[in-house]
Amino acid sequence: VTDCSFALIDGNSFYCSCERLFEPKLATRPVIVLSNNDGCAIARTAEAKALGIRMGDPFFKIRDLCRRERVAVYSSNYTLYGDMSRRMNWIYEGWARAVETYSIDESFLDLSHIRPAERVEMARDLRATVKRWTGVPTCVGIGPTKTLAKAANAMAKNDSELGGICDLTDPGERQARLDRFHVSEVWGVGPRSWPKMEALGVRTAGDLVRMDPRQIRMKFTVVGERTLHELRGVPCVDLESVAPQRKGIAVTRSFGRPVTTLEGLLEAVATYAFRAGEKLRRHGLAAAHLSVFAHSNLHNGDPHFSAGATEDLIEATSDGLALIAAASRGARRLWPPRGAKLAKAGVILDDLVRADHAPAALIGGRDREKAARMMAAVDAVNARFGRGAIISAAAGMKKPWTTKFEMRSPRYTTRVDELPMARASW
Ligand SMILES: [Mg+2]
Repeated sequence: VTDCSFALIDGNSFYCSCERLFEPKLATRPVIVLSNNDGCAIARTAEAKALGIRMGDPFFKIRDLCRRERVAVYSSNYTLYGDMSRRMNWIYEGWARAVETYSIDESFLDLSHIRPAERVEMARDLRATVKRWTGVPTCVGIGPTKTLAKAANAMAKNDSELGGICDLTDPGERQARLDRFHVSEVWGVGPRSWPKMEALGVRTAGDLVRMDPRQIRMKFTVVGERTLHELRGVPCVDLESVAPQRKGIAVTRSFGRPVTTLEGLLEAVATYAFRAGEKLRRHGLAAAHLSVFAHSNLHNGDPHFSAGATEDLIEATSDGLALIAAASRGARRLWPPRGAKLAKAGVILDDLVRADHAPAALIGGRDREKAARMMAAVDAVNARFGRGAIISAAAGMKKPWTTKFEMRSPRYTTRVDELPMARASW
């Protein structure tokens, strides 16, 4: 096992913390933020949780309580949250070897370049910097795999004695903490599989670690087996394979070559938006907000640039073409990068709802039936012939900005344009 190390950093009560930034008098008052159309509570400060307000409580049911207890109630402001998220990620870029944005308020940082003994100190500095520069309080979880970093982050949040940082690098301390961590809280286990876990005698994450991987694979497929290995400290999860959570999903990439034209940026964000749409549809979800961001390389001395834009979708959707249209609008708004070369861009979808529960717009909505049929056809073709068999033309054909594979051999067996060429001359 190589010495991999990841940190998961996330904003505490992120939406509420963003609201507090500009209303300092709310610092000690309970605050909640409501979902689209002020439906239900989707973010709560510790004070609001202490009042018994739960995640997803419909607002009409808690309206009287909020009035009585002087709870500050806000409609969601995704433009603000998206921009604060971008600022936080921009800070992370300066500290980590690589940053993977997982949702609007959660990012994985690659800390493999930092010595184990120095990681907690580094996390302390990072938290302090984020607080000072953006005002948002955070928690950091550290571990040799993403699943462990995610668990460590939850532990940091639930145990105030940890001071906002939990490090699961040390195997002994890791096992002791996993033995007290309920298996349903493990990333990727999900509420549906934990009754099955319990039937096997697996109650805590520590119990899962001690199971036979083959038995776990039989009951929970290769996904469950991967989770087990991750908990043992062996990295094998990539973000793409993890089910999106309500917080949203992000598709972000560093460019293989810097992007200096609007056309390049539009192709990139169209590609990411289309991919994000595929993920939504695979899980039966739809998104109501889309944020685009792009920034320059922070490490190579190029001029700095970082910008983002958030687009409201008229109705929650998983239609790839609607997402591309919104991503393109966002990209045009953040253009031009004032002479900087763009090194990375991303698309983040927020406020996910079940697609079959998404309210339809009365005016200006798309023809949902038609869009759904088309996307189902696209997904079916791509499932049969491989991802990317059908793409949107907006995503570009040549993609000069894409990840570098300059020394890769031709993909002889799967790409018509890379078939071995035979020439005959006479
Ligand atoms: Mg959070």
